Amino acid sequence: MRRYRVGVIEGDGIGPEVVGAALKLLQAVDRDFELVRISAGYGYFKKSGKPVEDGAIDTIKSLGAAIKGPLTTLPGPGTYRSINVMLRQELGLYANVRPFRSFRGVSLKDLNFTIVRENTEGLYRSVEGRFRDVALSTRVITRSGCKKVIEFSFRYALVEGFRKVTAVHKANILKVSDGLFREVFFETSKKYPRIEASDVFVDAAAYYMIKEPERFEVLVTPNLYGDILSDLAAGLVGSLGLCGSAQIGDGVAVFEPVHGSAPDIAGRGVANPVGAVTALTLMLKYLGTMHSDDYLVSRAVEIGEAVREVVEEGRALTPDLGGSSSTNDVVEAILKLLQPEG
Ligand code: ATP
Repeated sequence: MRRYRVGVIEGDGIGPEVVGAALKLLQAVDRDFELVRISAGYGYFKKSGKPVEDGAIDTIKSLGAAIKGPLTTLPGPGTYRSINVMLRQELGLYANVRPFRSFRGVSLKDLNFTIVRENTEGLYRSVEGRFRDVALSTRVITRSGCKKVIEFSFRYALVEGFRKVTAVHKANILKVSDGLFREVFFETSKKYPRIEASDVFVDAAAYYMIKEPERFEVLVTPNLYGDILSDLAAGLVGSLGLCGSAQIGDGVAVFEPVHGSAPDIAGRGVANPVGAVTALTLMLKYLGTMHSDDYLVSRAVEIGEAVREVVEEGRALTPDLGGSSSTNDVVEAILKLLQPEG
């Protein structure tokens, strides 16, 4: 039986609960997975004085894939730099891919689009300074950074059967930085004549996402816009707890739920595990595609379908969806639909 080695970062808050739930579903995948645990986060920082264990970047690079839970970053100066941002930049995870698909009876709107967020540049470079009462942030947008994520978006659209890619920007105000993003977008689009290329201002994108989400298929955005629009999209889907993401680099990828550490519900066993399970399915699909293992891709699809049935049929709903099921009830309901092995 084929063996896979993947990294696991449980993370903070509800991280261990939802990542643990996702990993339980590996029981239903007929492959040998070796899980390499990597410590990181605020909890680890309190014990060790370090936000992430030594050598973590090299470990993840050598494994090529990892699943991770949310990591807490404290706001304000004087604390450690965001570990999420550090991992993305050090590992070169340039595309943060977030599929948003509605669940019948749960979602506020009918939607099926993917946000591809540039993941290593923009305001998240955290080039900041303060002089007395004036604070400055420098937004870094490079041609090569734009090119990578925009090329990825068009290829993603082709592979996933989408017909349109929309660039989100504010190039009427941020004429230089967003202007470069827009320029690279339309240049790149010429290589993909089968895909329709359009653009929209970020404020209008927020509006249309609520009014007419069907107009979007793949959206490609600079870093901050994608972060904000993702939470908006998750709200439309019905809960942050329902959405997962793939962060893709060259030869390395990290998969995680879209939500944060949710300290308000941590440790109570009621976190919605679907976002983390979706991250798991994205990882299985990625590994299956990388290693030409069709079984892994088909199992990812089956788990995704089982999740959909559990949510849409209301077989087990956590409190964020108005139910009273536990994290574990949701996992059991998914497992029940998956057995016996398909
Ligand atoms: P962070 O700073 O780590 O992003 P946050 O509090 O800003 O944390 P989230 O942790 O994503 O953002 O939480 C926002 C809200 O969504 C909270 O009320 C939280 O309880 C809820 N939430 C997030 N994830 C889940 C989940 N998996 N299941 C249920 N509720 C969730």
